[in-house]
Amino acid sequence: MAILVQKFGGTSVANAEKIRRAAQRALQAHKEGYQVVVVASARGKQTDHLIADAKELNDAPPRREMDMLLATGEIQTVSLFAIALWDMGQKAISFTGQQAGFMTDDAHSKARIERLEVGRVRGMLDEGHIVIVAGFQGINAVGDITTLGRGGSDTSAVALAAALGAERCDIYTDVDGIYTTDPRIYTKAVKMEQISYDEILEMANLGAGVMHGRSIEFGKKYNVPIYVRSSLNDNPGTLITHEVPHMENILVSGATIQRNLAKITLLGVDNKPGNAATIFAHLASKRVSVNDIIQTEVSAEKANLSFTVAHSDLDVARQAITDIRSQVHCSSVAVRDDLAEVSVVGVGMQSHYGVAEKMFTALAHKQINIDSITTSEIRISCLVNLEQAETALIAVCDAFELDKPAAERQV
Ligand code: ASP
Ligand code: MG
Repeated sequence: MAILVQKFGGTSVANAEKIRRAAQRALQAHKEGYQVVVVASARGKQTDHLIADAKELNDAPPRREMDMLLATGEIQTVSLFAIALWDMGQKAISFTGQQAGFMTDDAHSKARIERLEVGRVRGMLDEGHIVIVAGFQGINAVGDITTLGRGGSDTSAVALAAALGAERCDIYTDVDGIYTTDPRIYTKAVKMEQISYDEILEMANLGAGVMHGRSIEFGKKYNVPIYVRSSLNDNPGTLITHEVPHMENILVSGATIQRNLAKITLLGVDNKPGNAATIFAHLASKRVSVNDIIQTEVSAEKANLSFTVAHSDLDVARQAITDIRSQVHCSSVAVRDDLAEVSVVGVGMQSHYGVAEKMFTALAHKQINIDSITTSEIRISCLVNLEQAETALIAVCDAFELDKPAAERQV
């Protein structure tokens, strides 16, 4: 019998009425002949409330204890979910992460799944139960509760779908699916019918915030189709898979905007082996996470080196550069914290000419200056002035017709 995993996010199980509606969806799939596994998040803002409770008692609560505390949020949801299903006459059983077999490393608050022992889940499915599993949690080798990082229930769900060989993992959320770009800025954005894992991974890294990044990595690695859809209606959602029809013909699938970026430039660094290594080793030792790096040779002796960081890392990064600049003979340092990055993402750009030109032309027509450009095989990103960033995003979306379904685009 085919297995279906359904994941319900916090907003989809926020109260009794919503839990009942979610339970009805699970029951419906069961009636259609699936073995159904539900993975649920904590109700509504419960995780935030628990964090606030802890902070009232301690500004820096121990991570182990936070994991104990936060795990209770999901446990409440799954037991209530099972209770709702029994009321509908359906056999159901709820499991903690541990009971469902989630074995993780011991990095409290950001644990990684090492192994999944799904014997008990399978047994209960075979006995005709709907199995409801607490997302976001597991146990480490000594049996302590761990959590997977904020938003981690997506990863629990996709990992479980992979381990069970499920036909699909449905992610129920409060949006209709994944849009070509942020509809709050580009109101003409359309929902994508399908998108590839690679593209969504790029978009997630660029701050599109659709799903927990690691869940997509699991889906890609283990071939789990992921279907993102709304729990509020029956509108079609967005399917994330390897192959998307006409994928090669679609130049650009989506566009993103990343605000809160700062760029640090080291001018006139000695142009010799080891300098970049010195600089980035020092930044890493200060735990600065660097986005894009651009180095250009100015002469045989000198080079300029720029990199971008999140605003939240800027102070630490600036200090780190102050520490190290004389070692690499840097003549001056420039910092800009009024930039944003606008990016286009699409697998199709690998096999087409002119994508970069189209993007740059769209920006030029709006008199937007490009501070710097970085690319990957399936992405082009431009740093622009923060106050022009929304105009830039809209111009780029218009140029690539991101207001139309993929099949209807002329570009
Ligand atoms: N409840 C956790 C959080 O709010 C995990 C999740 O919702 O995926 O981050
Ligand atoms: Mg979530």
